Amino acid sequence: MKIVLDRGRCTGLGICESLAPDHFEIDDNGDLVLLDEVAEGDALAEVEAAVAGCPTEALRLEH
Ligand code: SF4
Repeated sequence: MKIVLDRGRCTGLGICESLAPDHFEIDDNGDLVLLDEVAEGDALAEVEAAVAGCPTEALRLEH
């Protein structure tokens, strides 16, 4: 699955980073960096949790 980020919605609070730190990182400027835009295997569950946990619905997964 591919992670799609809508930067216009992202507030940079980093809930996604806390749930899936291998895929999301907040940089020194407070901007979200997608470390890996592909989620598969064991990592998919935590990325799905990050997508569901994003309070601004800035993340989604697509095939
Ligand atoms: S949880 Fe959502 S709003 Fe917060 S940093 Fe991640 S993508 Fe952005």
